[in-house]
Amino acid sequence: MEKGVALGRAIELACKTPLSHSTEILPLEKARGRVLAHSLKSKVNDPRFDNSAMDGFAIIASDCESPGVKLTIVGTSQTGGKAPPPIINGQACRIMTGAPLPEGADAIVMVEDTEVNNDQVTINGPARTGYIRKRAENLSTGQEALPAGTHLSSASLALAGTMGHGKVEVIKKPRIAILSTGDELVQPGTELASGQIYESNSHALASLVESMGCEAVRHESANDSMDELRTTLDSLSTCDAILTSGGVSMGEWDLVRKIMEEEGDISFWRMKLRPGGPPLFGTWKGTPLFGLPGNPVSSLVVFHVLVAPWIAKSLGYHPEMGPRLNQKVSVKLEENVSGAPEKLCLRRIRIRSDNGQLLATTHTHQGSGNMHSMVAHNGLTLLPPDTDGKAGEVIDALWIL
Ligand code: AMP
Ligand code: MG
Repeated sequence: MEKGVALGRAIELACKTPLSHSTEILPLEKARGRVLAHSLKSKVNDPRFDNSAMDGFAIIASDCESPGVKLTIVGTSQTGGKAPPPIINGQACRIMTGAPLPEGADAIVMVEDTEVNNDQVTINGPARTGYIRKRAENLSTGQEALPAGTHLSSASLALAGTMGHGKVEVIKKPRIAILSTGDELVQPGTELASGQIYESNSHALASLVESMGCEAVRHESANDSMDELRTTLDSLSTCDAILTSGGVSMGEWDLVRKIMEEEGDISFWRMKLRPGGPPLFGTWKGTPLFGLPGNPVSSLVVFHVLVAPWIAKSLGYHPEMGPRLNQKVSVKLEENVSGAPEKLCLRRIRIRSDNGQLLATTHTHQGSGNMHSMVAHNGLTLLPPDTDGKAGEVIDALWIL
């Protein structure tokens, strides 16, 4: 077991036991939010044929050099219809947006710039070749436009459709168990007895797990009892991974750490991180297990910086196009922010854009138990160990999306 590891080392160690996964084929309409298992190539040219970007008339540009010219209308080009008649000099063909360009035509005049009289059209505005959308100008057949690891969000789903894919092979959602531990925890919405508090971490963790393209399997919180923990962990080890919260610090009642030490297999314990020092990673009967801190802010930030990269690496998410919870950015500090001795310091910051620059301030009390601070802020500093941030300085930060 390694103790007190830096974040980079923690990710490296966790990735030695990746999240296992398989794939499944889904119809496009069921694939929203899923992640592509393989890259997708286009089955067609896009556009399939030269077509008009405007409603108007397809004409020959050299006919329309002076305003007021009159042309004979020889037919109509409609979307989804028959091939339009070809045109020669002196002729025009009505055309709808997306309809094929008639043979012979080399420009389009917008309908607003024309006047029709029986089978004659007067051209009052410019004829533009730029109003023609050329065959394959967006994508050509065989072109790989969606790489493996792409998160299928609105635009990428539509592009898969454009490319002709009715079904896609996606990563089957790994099942990640979430277990809060602590005698004091009760479900929100129930009465609190003396000494009890509402359990909240599982809600944040389940939401983060789902946002990373996995299925969250929430389990009722377990009491601080070795027997209860053992039985519960055994029942959850059928999942692909387990996230616990609470019980991983130095205290006598930190039983997740104790049971993992005695009966599990710990790869590392404690990280050089503030907040979020106590986590452990290991396996319980072969199932990867992150023991996250109980303090609500700590469990969430450790998910962002440690668990999310582990999921992303394990499942082969594309660095730019895969599911993401946050983005690394440079921010200019508007006030002094203190760092932490020997630890990467993740202070909560509010990031806003101002005149092309991202500015960062802090607002509420930063205690690791204060969940309100995670809502009132939208970012975390990445202050290196032993480094304070000074007002006016540009530092690295995570922008929580
Ligand atoms: P622990 O790591 O178990 O010592 O817990 C640290 C602090 O976080 C304690 O104040 C706990 O009451 C609190 N805590 C632990 N788990 C949760 C949870 N699931 N929801 C809300 N607070 C929690
Ligand atoms: Mg506890």
